[in-house]
Amino acid sequence: MAWASSPSARAGCPFHGALDTRRLPKGIGSRGKAFHHLVIFYIVIALFGLVFGSFLNVCIARLPRGESIVLPRSHCPRCNHAIRWHDNIPLLSYLILGAKCRDCRAPISPVYPFIESLTAVTLCLTFYVYGLGPEFVKFAMFGMLLIVLIFTDFFDRRIPHPVTIFGIGLGLILSFFIPVDDQPLAWILRHWDIYLDGPAASVTGAVAGALVGGGLFYAVGEVFYHAGGKQKEYLGFGDVMLMLMVGTFLGVPLTLVTILLGSLGGSIVAVAMTLLSKRFRGYAWPYGTFLGIAAIYAGLNGDRLLNWYLQISGMAR
Ligand SMILES: [Zn+2]
Repeated sequence: MAWASSPSARAGCPFHGALDTRRLPKGIGSRGKAFHHLVIFYIVIALFGLVFGSFLNVCIARLPRGESIVLPRSHCPRCNHAIRWHDNIPLLSYLILGAKCRDCRAPISPVYPFIESLTAVTLCLTFYVYGLGPEFVKFAMFGMLLIVLIFTDFFDRRIPHPVTIFGIGLGLILSFFIPVDDQPLAWILRHWDIYLDGPAASVTGAVAGALVGGGLFYAVGEVFYHAGGKQKEYLGFGDVMLMLMVGTFLGVPLTLVTILLGSLGGSIVAVAMTLLSKRFRGYAWPYGTFLGIAAIYAGLNGDRLLNWYLQISGMAR
């Protein structure tokens, strides 16, 4: 794999991802056949997404309470009956059971099939953008970690440390093998005649991304904390951990894109909802949820957004 420090190399063509049948393995034959193979790829990836999504449901329900994600087996929260394996098939069981527990007819939350479907869609989009390669694995893992954090913050206002610590470690390890954007650090170092390339540049980019993302949130949180008379923590440490993780996967430029889009999106939604309904006055909005959504977007389309912005602002070389 080529170590391209600039992500713009793959951002030129609007259909540069998996839709390009030329990227499929050679020897498949006609383009019609290749298209069939592509459809099968999407179906298999969607099925994997449903199965992983079912596991993410367990993480989202249990991790904020500090419970094990392995044991005990899933059970109905009302009648405590263990869920039979054939009633635990993602999406399908929910539809067959008519959204009710087989034993006590208690309603099953539509959140479960929603998260399963969302995971399937996220993995398919990742395949569309990156095709089937190392980057698919990286951004599929990134997307799934973020889905857990988006919903634990949304439902419980928790960003569990086991998830973020695992994510930070994984992001750093992956940066040895899959290039992370090392700008603007490379640009700064060049002024001292220091030139990094290969894994050294990528790992430096990941560490810089984490320091900028986590550091910015830590600093802003401290400023608000002291300015607010040390009354209330505006940004939890969970948000700092989330941005450390995002930084290791994305590098500095896309981490900044994430913060910008997450803050902007969160503000727009919060203002709109407060205007629409009095219930949302003084509501504690889950910042991590917005940051998580923005990070998934930045991982999949941030390069193109950034290139587009550099083009129209005339900053691109
Ligand atoms: Zn039940």
